[in-house]
Amino acid sequence: MSKLIYLDNAATTSVKPEVFEAMKPYYLENYSNPSSVYSFAGEAKKAMEDARKVIADSLGAAATEIYFTGGGSESDNWVLKGVAEAYQSKGKHIITSKIEHHAILHTCEYLEKHGYEVTYLDVDENGLVTPEEVEKAIRPDTILISIMFANNEIGTIEPIAEIGKVAHEHGVLFHTDAVQAYAHVPINVQEMNIDMLSASGHKFHGPKGIGFLYMSNKVKIGPLIHGGSQERSRRAGTHNVPGIVGMAKAAELAHANMDQTIAKETALRDHLIERLEKEIPYCRLNGDRVKRLPNNVNFCFRFIEGESLLILLDQNGICASSGSACTSGSLDPSHVLLAIGLPHEIAHGSLRLTLSEDNTMEEMDFVADQAKKIVERLRSMSPLYDDFVKQQKEQ
Ligand SMILES: *Cc1c(COP(=O)(O)O)cnc(C)c1O
Repeated sequence: MSKLIYLDNAATTSVKPEVFEAMKPYYLENYSNPSSVYSFAGEAKKAMEDARKVIADSLGAAATEIYFTGGGSESDNWVLKGVAEAYQSKGKHIITSKIEHHAILHTCEYLEKHGYEVTYLDVDENGLVTPEEVEKAIRPDTILISIMFANNEIGTIEPIAEIGKVAHEHGVLFHTDAVQAYAHVPINVQEMNIDMLSASGHKFHGPKGIGFLYMSNKVKIGPLIHGGSQERSRRAGTHNVPGIVGMAKAAELAHANMDQTIAKETALRDHLIERLEKEIPYCRLNGDRVKRLPNNVNFCFRFIEGESLLILLDQNGICASSGSACTSGSLDPSHVLLAIGLPHEIAHGSLRLTLSEDNTMEEMDFVADQAKKIVERLRSMSPLYDDFVKQQKEQ
C-alpha cells in the first residue's frame, strides 16, 4: 500500500472540495472588505452573515451570539482573559480540569501569574470530570468554569450538560472548549447550559486560521483583540471572509450528514480497537469506551516508545500521533495520560489514531497489521521486555 493513510484528524483535517469551492469566489471575485459601504462589499457581508446564521442554528444559538475568531486557541484565550478581567470585582477564581488543551492550561497559568487562582480538577481513570467534583470546587469568588467538551488525546466526552447545570445553579459562567466535538457530535447550547463555546474550522474539514466563539448574550466581556469595530466591537481585524464562508460550509455539511458520519466512524473505530486489543498483548485502551468521540483511538503499548512506533508507522505511509501535535517533539509524557493515572513509562508508549469519514475498513486492517508487526519488532529489541518475559516464565 503506497497511498498515504491519514489518521491524525485531531491535529487537523482535510478541506472538503465543496468547502474550497465555496471559498474561492471570496478570493477571486468578491475580495471586498465587508465593512465597506458600497454594494460590492455588501455581497461579502451578506455571505458572512449567512455563515453566522448557519453556525448559530447548528448550536441552537442566536446569530448575535456568534463571534468569528482566528481559531480555537484565540477563542479559549479570549474567554479566560475576558472573563478574568470583566468579572474580577466578583472574584478571581477559575475552575478547569487537568486534561484541557494547552490553549486553556497555559492561559490559566498566565492568569495565575496575574493574581488569579485556578483549580485544576482531577479526572478519573477514563478521563471523566464529575459534576460533583465541579460543585465541590465552587467558591463564592468563582467566576468561570471551563471544561472541555471532548478530549483531543483520549476522546473522552465530558458530562457537559450536567456540569453546565451545576455552574448555573451556583450562578457561575460555563465555558466549554468544543474544538474536538463541534460538528462531530450534536451540541445544543441551550439544552446543555453552555454560556460560551470555542470551535475551530480546521478540525471539521474547514480552513485553518478561522474559528468562532459562541457567547451567550448574557455574558459581558471586552475584546481580546483591540482595533476596529468588527464583530460588534468585540473582535477587531478585517474579516476573513473566505475562511468564514468555508467554515460555515464545512459546518453545514457536517451537520447534514452527522448521523451517517458518526455511524461510519464508530464502525471503523471499534474495528480498529477490537483488532489492536485482541492481537497485541500488554496494551491498554485510553479514554472512556462509551463516552468517546466516534473518531478517536488511543492506546498505550507497554515496553515501547511512542516516538519509535510513529516513525515506523510513517515508513509505512501511516500518519499518526502520540499524544497531541502540540506536545510532540517534547519528551515529556502527555499531561492527559498522566492525569488518568498512567505511570511515566507507560504513558511514553502511547499512540493516537484519529479517523475521519474518508477512512476505510481496509485502511483499519492495514494499520492493525502494521501496528502489530511494529510493536513486536520494537519489543524484540527492548531489554525491558526481555526481562519481563523472563520474569513471567520464572513465575
Ligand atoms: C486544536 C485544538 C485547539 C486549538 O485550536 P486552533 O484552531 O488550532 O488554535 C484547542 N482546543 C482543542 C481541544 C483542540 O483540539
